[in-house]
This record gives sequence, structure tokens and C-alpha cells, in this order.
Amino acid sequence: MSDVKPISLDGFRKKKEKEEAERYFPGKMVWLYCPKCKSLEYTEIISPAGRMHNCGTRVEEREVELDLRAEITVTEYNLQVIGGLLSKNSRFKLVKILSKSLDKALVALKASEETYRDRIVLAAGMNLPPYPGEIEELADKLSIRDTNRLGLLISAFRFEPEKRFDI
Ligand SMILES: [Zn+2]
Repeated sequence: MSDVKPISLDGFRKKKEKEEAERYFPGKMVWLYCPKCKSLEYTEIISPAGRMHNCGTRVEEREVELDLRAEITVTEYNLQVIGGLLSKNSRFKLVKILSKSLDKALVALKASEETYRDRIVLAAGMNLPPYPGEIEELADKLSIRDTNRLGLLISAFRFEPEKRFDI
């Protein structure tokens, strides 16, 4: 009687899941530069009217549009790398002084990645899941500009921010 195809709920669900897994999350982050203090920092807070640095100087601003989900994916990956290095480092007790200073550097890196992750979550207004899959397979989704000597990925937003200003 009817030539309407039965809806395949399973196929529908799979399609939805795939879309969900691949969905990007557009957002904005801002680089701020104080010409007096020569300080550079980023924020998730957009302020079209501009803002003052705590020294009383108006800061220069550069808004950057990005995929917040890609940034989360990168920073979660970096946190995994740092976690791995920290646990590996703790096994090298023989070179104690060296391992202590490396440990300090890694802890500082970890804190800066966590801060970045927190800012991205604030910019998104929600927790974003990283893209599923291996980091190598995600290359076209992530805007990686560099990899440092520890193997940490540097996304376009965090790559050479000073070049966004005339400094
Ligand atoms: Zn300042």
C-alpha cells in the first residue's frame, strides 16, 4: 500500500553519532598586547570596546576565530604527552638534579596546558569532547603549526603570537 521505506533507526543513529563525532565548534579567542609592559596574553573574553591593562595602558587586541574543539583535542593530547614524560622522568632517579629541573619544567608546562584547556572550555561555555581518533588521523581537522622538542603540538592560535602585533 505504501511505498515509504521503513526508517532504519540503527542507520539513523549511526549517522547522528558520526555527525556528532565530527562536529566542529567555532569560537573566538583574543590575544592582548600591552605596548607599555610588552606583555602578551590570551583571553576568551571578547571586549569590542577594548580594555586597559592593569598598568593603565590600552591594550592592542587580535581576535582569532578557531575551532574550539580542535584546540581541546590538541591540549588534551599535550596533557597526555606531558603525563607520560612526568611518569617516565620519575623513574630516572640516578640523575636526580637533572630530573628535578625537568620535572619542574614539565609541571609548569602541564599547568599552562590546563589553563589553556580551562579558557577554551570557558570560551565554548561547555565541556567539549576531543575529536575521536588518533592524532595523526586528525591532522586535517587540527591546525597544527609546530611540534616542540618534547613532542607537544602547537596550534595556529598559540604559534608565534608576537607576530600578530607590530612588535
Ligand atoms: Zn601594561
